[in-house]
Amino acid sequence: MSGIYLHIPFCKQACHYCDFHFSTSTRKKSRLVDMLCREMILRKSEIPASIETIYFGGGTPSLLSSEELQQIFETIFSNFQVAEDAEITLEANPDDLSEEKIAQLAASPVNRLSIGVQSFFEDDLQLMNRAHNETEALESLQAAKKHFENISIDLIYGIPGLTDEKWKENLKIALELEIPHISSYALTIEADTALEKFIEKGKLQPVEDEQYRRQFDILVQTLTQAGFEHYEFSNYGKTGFHSRNNMAYWLGKPYLGVGPSAHSFDGKQRKWNISNNSLYINSLEMEKIPQETEELSINDRYNEYVMTRLRTKFGVNVLELEQDFGRKYRDYFERNAENFLQQELMLRSDLVYLITKKGKFLSDGIAADLFYID
Ligand code: SF4
Repeated sequence: MSGIYLHIPFCKQACHYCDFHFSTSTRKKSRLVDMLCREMILRKSEIPASIETIYFGGGTPSLLSSEELQQIFETIFSNFQVAEDAEITLEANPDDLSEEKIAQLAASPVNRLSIGVQSFFEDDLQLMNRAHNETEALESLQAAKKHFENISIDLIYGIPGLTDEKWKENLKIALELEIPHISSYALTIEADTALEKFIEKGKLQPVEDEQYRRQFDILVQTLTQAGFEHYEFSNYGKTGFHSRNNMAYWLGKPYLGVGPSAHSFDGKQRKWNISNNSLYINSLEMEKIPQETEELSINDRYNEYVMTRLRTKFGVNVLELEQDFGRKYRDYFERNAENFLQQELMLRSDLVYLITKKGKFLSDGIAADLFYID
């Protein structure tokens, strides 16, 4: 089982919190799509032939025209063996999702939409400098539901000024619309973003940890009560709607990442492409892949395993740990996890260690304490 990730590095405008790679000029979009296709052809032997998931991320993949999307699919289907029931996700922003656009996407091989709603409130959207407004957020979902069953939305909590009441209202609207999958992230202040500058200049007050924690608790409680499974720290799905792309990533399956800034993983090596659209295009024009490679050490792989597994419902299986990394790593993990078991932040069920409800909000910190560092 393997997957393809395509990074579409264009956005209409820069969201104030975003540190992903994108350009607000779409001048080179068609040339970049040509090179994205070329990259897939040049690298097709790097992953097992059978493709189970295809994911268009970005940036804003809904900025691709239907001709560009068709060109990409023709390249994929003529160079890879795509499973008949492959999950094919496209990230879309509400302002791109007219009825016509949604119908075009539904007529393409795309079978899952991941829509960047973030909030249903105008003031939050403006503070984050999103390109869409409150009406577009709602209308795009109503229209998407007419053509797609498998829909995910992103919602952000911990926004300055987002009261618990507004946060509950965001979740209520998502539930009323019967969206079957929700990814929800805390608004983090990344380096070199507009948000960081606003805070440095005192134009915006940073959010207290307590707000993050409360809103995370509201999120978990509201969605689990509504029948969603909290299957990964930031992801909630109704039965049959968990993201197969994300699951494959957390289970360490190989994937080929194409496009500027895209990462790839083959089980042992991690590769990442240059985060610059012009340099990416120039390099591919000469049939060179502009990328760096990192050979993962056994410690790196163990640390990644612990970090990703503790964020998911799968947890850390110590037998698997021993088989993949050796007895030394299993002993190390069990010895250090003892403290978290006593504090009831983790629990052990047979061979599997899981984060408890009490420990959920702290899962990244707990994982970091269990890392193996020479
Ligand atoms: S649309 Fe997405 S990728 Fe583009 S700037 Fe906003 S958050 Fe970043």
